[in-house]
Amino acid sequence: MHQVMTKRSPVAKLKPKRTCIFCGGLPLTTEDVIPTWIHRQLGRRPTTTVVGSSERTVERIYANLAYTTKVNAVCARCNNGWMATLEGATKILLSRMFDEKLSLQFDDESKRTLACWTMKTALMLQLVHPIRAIRQDVYADFYKTRVPPRSAVIYIARRRMERNPTGGNVVSTDLNVTAADGRPETIGTLYGVTFLIQNIAFQVVGFQMAVPSQPNIEFPQEFQPFVQRLWPTGERVIWPPLDQPTLDEKQSIRFTLAPSGIKPGTMI
Ligand SMILES: [Zn+2]
Repeated sequence: MHQVMTKRSPVAKLKPKRTCIFCGGLPLTTEDVIPTWIHRQLGRRPTTTVVGSSERTVERIYANLAYTTKVNAVCARCNNGWMATLEGATKILLSRMFDEKLSLQFDDESKRTLACWTMKTALMLQLVHPIRAIRQDVYADFYKTRVPPRSAVIYIARRRMERNPTGGNVVSTDLNVTAADGRPETIGTLYGVTFLIQNIAFQVVGFQMAVPSQPNIEFPQEFQPFVQRLWPTGERVIWPPLDQPTLDEKQSIRFTLAPSGIKPGTMI
């Protein structure tokens, strides 16, 4: 029998059911990108900062990223479990950093806690936009280890607040090295997530490579004096910074784009 098909066979239009980006669980819940307590404490001001995301360094603009932006990608167990615990552990520290009434000298434990919170927030922030710079396995690894990847560095810098914008930026770029025969070779990708809350700029820069390793990072010279490294721990972190300059409005915006300017150095 020969059958003439007058219609195309129906193509499955249903996407695979989305599950928790960290653990694969269900049901999904709505999670604040920037935790509720922060916008309660700092006020629900609208954002004015350009927030971007990019793939291959093409800039994208987010129309709205406010303190109240939410995503729907995390299950109830993660949201109410380890993520809530991490928020709780970070809250007092961050509140003190926002108001700057006390001078804080971070021990390694505090650096690790704030680095984990920064990583978690960066991972949530990139979900606001459909283009992803950070791969899913980074989420799965973070869920397993509960610490930022060994291939990532995390910084904070102090920023001025005259106009007080919130915002963030996600970039991704190829990681090129010179091969033995002198030709450039792409060995992976580099991602950078920057976000600004109140008086603090947070930045995560990470590498995604076939062979896990920790490249040295040459931070762009112009921003070197501004940053303090939270992760890997081991460097002095004092808040408010004792002897470091504060990013002004323009520098804050340029700082959010900085990861694409970061040059990987020699591999360890
Ligand atoms: Zn989960």
